Amino acid sequence: MTEVIEAPAAVKPIHHWIGGRSVPGKSGRSGPVWNPATGEQTGAVDFATVDEVDAAVAAAKEAFASWRSVSLSKRLDLFFKIRHLVYEHREDIARFLTAEHGKVLSDALGEVQRGLEVIEYACGIPTLLKSEYSEQVSTGIDVYSIRQPLGVVAGITPFNFPAMVPMWMWAPAIACGNTFVLKPSEKDPSASLYTAELLKEAGLPDGVFNVVMGDKVAVDRILEHPDVSAVSFVGSTPIAKYVYETGTSHGKRIQALGGAKNHMVVLPDADLDMAADAAVSAAYGSAGERCMAVSVVVALESVADELVGKIKERLPNVKIGPGLEPENEMGPLITREHRDRVASYIDGARDQGAEVVADGRELKVDGDGFFLGVSLIDNVTPEMDCYRDEIFGPVLSVVRAKTYDEAVKLVNDNPYGNGVAIFTRDGGAAREFEFSVNAGMVGVNVPIPVPVAYYSFGGWKNSLFGDSHIYGPEGIHFYTRGKVVTRRWPDPATSKIDLGFPQTR
Ligand code: NAD
Repeated sequence: MTEVIEAPAAVKPIHHWIGGRSVPGKSGRSGPVWNPATGEQTGAVDFATVDEVDAAVAAAKEAFASWRSVSLSKRLDLFFKIRHLVYEHREDIARFLTAEHGKVLSDALGEVQRGLEVIEYACGIPTLLKSEYSEQVSTGIDVYSIRQPLGVVAGITPFNFPAMVPMWMWAPAIACGNTFVLKPSEKDPSASLYTAELLKEAGLPDGVFNVVMGDKVAVDRILEHPDVSAVSFVGSTPIAKYVYETGTSHGKRIQALGGAKNHMVVLPDADLDMAADAAVSAAYGSAGERCMAVSVVVALESVADELVGKIKERLPNVKIGPGLEPENEMGPLITREHRDRVASYIDGARDQGAEVVADGRELKVDGDGFFLGVSLIDNVTPEMDCYRDEIFGPVLSVVRAKTYDEAVKLVNDNPYGNGVAIFTRDGGAAREFEFSVNAGMVGVNVPIPVPVAYYSFGGWKNSLFGDSHIYGPEGIHFYTRGKVVTRRWPDPATSKIDLGFPQTR
């Protein structure tokens, strides 16, 4: 079994998973996997060649013929087993996340839970694939629709949710009858291999779920491979756009979820303590490395000073340190380079005229981990880099708006449109906000409005390329295609030669 390595004696090699077994890579290329809490390299992950991607796709293609024919009741039975095994091993999975991503164990368990919910949704596959039937559309003729799997589908996933985002993809894809090739982030790949082992233990046939490790070489081969029918991607906006454009130009169905800059608008009538708690939780949870993190608070001017004061007074209480120590609430960032890039925004903001209320660089944690404390920047304006860029770290900007309309305009002018939240006690204002705001997921007094598994997740604008949101009903739709059957049975009473265009009778 794949093992968690927290303090390595030697660097662990991390291989591909093809056709139901671990396959060492032959490219001679690999990438480092770090324990961000210690700064030590714990693993070296193989980077696939084109041939290795082809081998994974070939294994998936071979498995598809029989997997698509497995009855819905057998698929359901298998998904209950998968659900049970993932639940039973949720802490093992979470430990991989803490070891390689750095998020604290309680947060890692939360990630696994939100993935499990999508596996549970996929257990409903017999109901989810039910279609429509119209009897007697013409004399003796019935029509019905069916949804069929696409074939081999692939998932390309980001570093920040190494278990949950793959689950959002493979669970509905496989339940629909497809076979799957996953290309996880090269930064924290072990949870994907462990998942492969659990799926095999549950009884999933070899070749239905494959993992290729790697970088752009693997991604590009997936995007152009003629036997890959569809690709789900989650990652940064430039790569999401590239994946969408390249994949669609090769005739594939693509859903590509990109980056975010999520705003939290606080109206004067809001419960300011609730809003401050929410801002701290949503900005600094998982060290801000969440696509649904709140990175901008838009405070109406009359309450801005009070709100900033309430956020500031909460910051010293945020416990930061290694994710395995249960008292900690926030861990390190993913790599040293990313930590340094995030930190550079603090001076940048000051130089551009913002006020640094809290500077995360003042945090000292023993050892060589990639830690950065929480930063709060006030009086940010829309042209500043800390407002324009997705920082993806524990840095919260506060923009002050004179009016509600100015606040909404700020949200709607932003090129991203993933999540957004409003804090208010005014139902009418909240309703108007839901109606006007250009974002895919809206929270009312809820800072991170990730939809439950039976709705679908996705943003607007530069946060999503393609038509389909991920998981939920749109996920089932994405991984299947429609077919409509018009049928009659031999009946001498209705049979005659008629060369005209078919009409209902
Ligand atoms: P990333 O775009 O760097 O990487 C995502 C995937 O693309 C990885 O598997 C990576 O190996 C691959 N990749 C990277 N560079 C590539 C290239 N040049 N060509 C082809 N493939 C390439 O993203 P990340 O840093 O791993 O993840 C963080 C980003 O993901 C943030 O922008 C975050 O907002 C976004 N994200 C979005 C959502 C969402 O639901 N919208 C969810 C999670 C993360």
